[in-house]
Amino acid sequence: MTTTGFDPMWAALAPIGRDGATGGYRRFAWTRTDHDLREWFAGECADRGLALTEDRAGNQWAWWGNPDTTPGIVMGSHLDSVPDGGAFDGPLGVVSALATVDALRAAGVTPSRPVGVVNFVDEEGARFGIACAGSRIITGALSADRARGLTDADGITMAEAWRAAGRDPLGLGPDEEALRRVHAFVELHVEQGRALALEPDGSAPGDRSDATRAVAIGTDIWPHGRWRIEIPGEANHAGTTRLEDRRDAMLGLATIVQQARSYAAELGCVATVGKVRVEPGGVNAIPSHVTAWLDARGPAERAVRATVAGVLGAADELGGTHEEESWTPTTRFDAGLVSRLTGTLPDAPLLGTGAGHDAGILATHGIPTAMLFVRNPTGVSHSPAEFAEPEDCHRGVAALTAVVTELCTSDHRDLGTRTEDLDA
Ligand SMILES: [Zn+2]
Repeated sequence: MTTTGFDPMWAALAPIGRDGATGGYRRFAWTRTDHDLREWFAGECADRGLALTEDRAGNQWAWWGNPDTTPGIVMGSHLDSVPDGGAFDGPLGVVSALATVDALRAAGVTPSRPVGVVNFVDEEGARFGIACAGSRIITGALSADRARGLTDADGITMAEAWRAAGRDPLGLGPDEEALRRVHAFVELHVEQGRALALEPDGSAPGDRSDATRAVAIGTDIWPHGRWRIEIPGEANHAGTTRLEDRRDAMLGLATIVQQARSYAAELGCVATVGKVRVEPGGVNAIPSHVTAWLDARGPAERAVRATVAGVLGAADELGGTHEEESWTPTTRFDAGLVSRLTGTLPDAPLLGTGAGHDAGILATHGIPTAMLFVRNPTGVSHSPAEFAEPEDCHRGVAALTAVVTELCTSDHRDLGTRTEDLDA
């Protein structure tokens, strides 16, 4: 091993998949760039003498110790990005996990159970449209047939992308064997908001050098859902139709957007209308129909439901219709694991998140799972403006090292029931 620790790895990863014009990243699943990232990961694991395996979705698992004898403590995240994404979302967790292996060894820690590092493939769903595809495939949350048939913007299926990457798509599918090796999973991730950068009461600006607010412990993933709303109107000439004679579907949309904002503000949620389809879609035609998609999330299920009920009620009054396209209740991280993290990092704030993660997919599958969030002073994510101070990245590694040291040198009666089953 020539180099260890966070900084050299971070520097080596920086140019891979970066767009010269915007500085943003284009790291999409099963592309040449993805191949380079996977090779980089494999090289770092080989340098550390970690045994690299792949599961049936192509997620990469690197092990220190034999997880088939005793399930291990796994850290990691993903290396792919959204279009023009930031450097930190995903890679921060993977690089911190490898740096944690270095730190454990430098400290002379002898793990009593294996330690693993995972690189989940296709977390952002930027190419095939399904987020957390790698973890969804191995847990069975995304069926193999559906995954193989997903298409990218060029009409290339995931199966074809697998073949182009030299893989057999028939091998893709659920992988209980890979999951059985995971005793507990801790995903470190850049914060995708400003809760840590602001004062505890939410006022700005916070003290950005405050070490106690550099890393938070994730408690849960907010409940979230998507609704499709159909708003009726009547097509007519934009020049000759008197205002009082119009049925303009776009005015209905304006109401929906305003109502989403005001209910969300009142009830402490977030609500977004980020995609609309307008018919007939002519500059000189009064809109005859608008289809709008509402995304709503928040810390409390009841508040999210109430926000959505308010918006859908407004749609009813406009003579519209609506349909729930998806709903995911609160994903709570393992209480025993969270309390162990809290014991190890007593100063760390507790934080829920409105973003989805592979950690959520594993938690839903019954694996004891938790997250750590590293302060992001801009609060911006999925953009080149996404950031974490180098000092905070190092604090993240230190926090992860403390957590994993505790987890890999103690026994775990207090983790999820699935864990006890494995111990039995
Ligand atoms: Zn991420």
